[in-house]
Amino acid sequence: MDSASKTPTPGVRQKILIATAALAVSLLVWMGISQLQDRAAAEAQARKNPTALAFERAAEQWLAHPREASEFERAVQAREVAAVGVDGYLVLYTDRKGQQFSTRMIDCGLNCKNELGSRLGELSVAQGFALTNVDVDARTAGQRLTQNIDRAIAALAPLLAFVAIGGALVYFHLRGSLGQRTRLAEKPKTRFDDVIGADEAKKALKRVAAFMKDPKHYAGVGAKAPRGVLLDGPPGTGKTLLAKALAGECGANFISVDGSYFSSMFYGAGIGKVKELFKRARECAPCIVFIDEIDGIGKRSNGKEAGSGGGEQEQNRIINRLLVEMDGFSSLENVVIVGATNHVDNIDEAMRRPGRFDLVVRTSLPTSPEREQLFGLYLGQVKAAPGMELASIARTATGMSPADIANCVNRAAAYAAEAGETLVSQERVYQSLETHQLGGEVTNTKDIITPETLRRIAFHESGHALVAHVLEAGSVERVSIEPRGPALGVTYVTRTHEEPLYGERELLSRLAMMLAGREAELIAFGNASSGATDDLKRASELATSMVGSMGFGKTFGLLSMAGVPRELIGPDVQKSLLDEARALLESAQAECRRVLEDKRDRLNALTELLLGEETVSGAPLKRVLSGEPA
Ligand code: ADP
Repeated sequence: MDSASKTPTPGVRQKILIATAALAVSLLVWMGISQLQDRAAAEAQARKNPTALAFERAAEQWLAHPREASEFERAVQAREVAAVGVDGYLVLYTDRKGQQFSTRMIDCGLNCKNELGSRLGELSVAQGFALTNVDVDARTAGQRLTQNIDRAIAALAPLLAFVAIGGALVYFHLRGSLGQRTRLAEKPKTRFDDVIGADEAKKALKRVAAFMKDPKHYAGVGAKAPRGVLLDGPPGTGKTLLAKALAGECGANFISVDGSYFSSMFYGAGIGKVKELFKRARECAPCIVFIDEIDGIGKRSNGKEAGSGGGEQEQNRIINRLLVEMDGFSSLENVVIVGATNHVDNIDEAMRRPGRFDLVVRTSLPTSPEREQLFGLYLGQVKAAPGMELASIARTATGMSPADIANCVNRAAAYAAEAGETLVSQERVYQSLETHQLGGEVTNTKDIITPETLRRIAFHESGHALVAHVLEAGSVERVSIEPRGPALGVTYVTRTHEEPLYGERELLSRLAMMLAGREAELIAFGNASSGATDDLKRASELATSMVGSMGFGKTFGLLSMAGVPRELIGPDVQKSLLDEARALLESAQAECRRVLEDKRDRLNALTELLLGEETVSGAPLKRVLSGEPA
């Protein structure tokens, strides 16, 4: 067991000190007030007459002999009374033989003129007995004790609450916060087979799993146990799933936290949480500790940047603590820390040294066959219509992560339910894909678009689609003039293959495709609109990098601007680069105009079809693009 983990962290110690100081100050104030109260009481006593003092000091002696009010009245009438002390309705009196009694006068109401109490003053003068006001406590000793206990509890309640809240704060910061603790440690049933694709990642993690299943064997031959694995990849690519599968494969416990788990508004609490986490992990061994978004804590600051302050020092201390804990693992402890990040470069060098997070496993977006499997998996979990063309759906889903695919199927099921359908059809899956890829649901901008603008949008999109098809920039899957998100219309083109490289011809076709919307507007209306703003931006980016860094320019040849020091790139170099990029755009524009003029009938046909249908895809689209009757 780690003895250090029992010691309060500096932050907690600070809080205990503050609480103790506050308690001491409260006690001093309380003592001061009671002293003042005692002094005031002593002064009041000193001013009282001896008769009153005699009654008050030994009131018990009078209270012990209660008498009826009538008996007191009789004694007064018989001139047997020597001294009377009055406290409201309570009367203490001593008769002339020195006997002491008490009574309670009767309240006979406002109209009671003859009441004895109101005549005591004149009777005392007439009969010569002493009469004084007294201040006595008529309660019995038992009553006094219970009432004092009640009062003490009432007075101490705020203090008790203060101590309870302070105690709870210290407790939860020593032990980690309650909410986060409750989601710790589970034994997942996930296996590597549940993870589609990610073969490289699985291969690396299988080695870790083998180690965890039989640590003694590996330790026996002197192999060092893996301590930390970094999973690096875009969001939704299965990092959490892989970590769970690793735990599932070796029957290990799985503790999951994220980078923000360690950050706290209380200085020092983060370190306490690191210690607590590792303590828990050791207790649950074999155990996988999964830290999602580890870059949240994994980036150390050197304290020199502007604005670096206590928060960053705390960050460094958390990293240090994490490393100390990892270094402290023995080979047989069987705890592996798996960190997930989208930015592995942001992870501190010290964290990636051997014996720490020295194994980096990459996850990537799924390939087309993997997407097909993923659609198969997730459509299997909803009521899907038979005969889905998974390969075609997967092709359309280029660039989507497994999480996107899961979401997409879920949204398709929601669309089907909203439409009152009992099965999720392929059309619903496409509709959902479209929502994802075309930037959201159809917006109500539609209601304010005039017929002329709609016609312009239809020509614009038809231009993109036709040029993409004729110049083979990709497979034109869907064209729509329904506004979604910021876009007024969309043409969805996919690559027919997933080659990582782009040839010059393919890039030029893409350039022409990007410019084709504006060119179609020019052909149809003789003028262009602002609708091409985004197309021009993307085309300019592509043209400049083709000339400046891909080696497709004439002026710079093989010289890449990315590799030339900035100070050498003067205004003349910039001008030449921009001139050549512009020439490239102009030649793409000329090519695109040639195609559009040449195939003007197809441009018109697709425009009319779009104006009628709003969205065109599949066979009708292919037919129009190929010049067959729609
Ligand atoms: P990450 O941690 O990389 O952000 P997750 O592991 O949380 O991604 O995955 C998000 C969702 O996508 C989960 O529902 C998960 O089941 C699913 N998912 C991710 N990758 C895969 C995969 N390779 N195979 C099957 N489902 C996956």
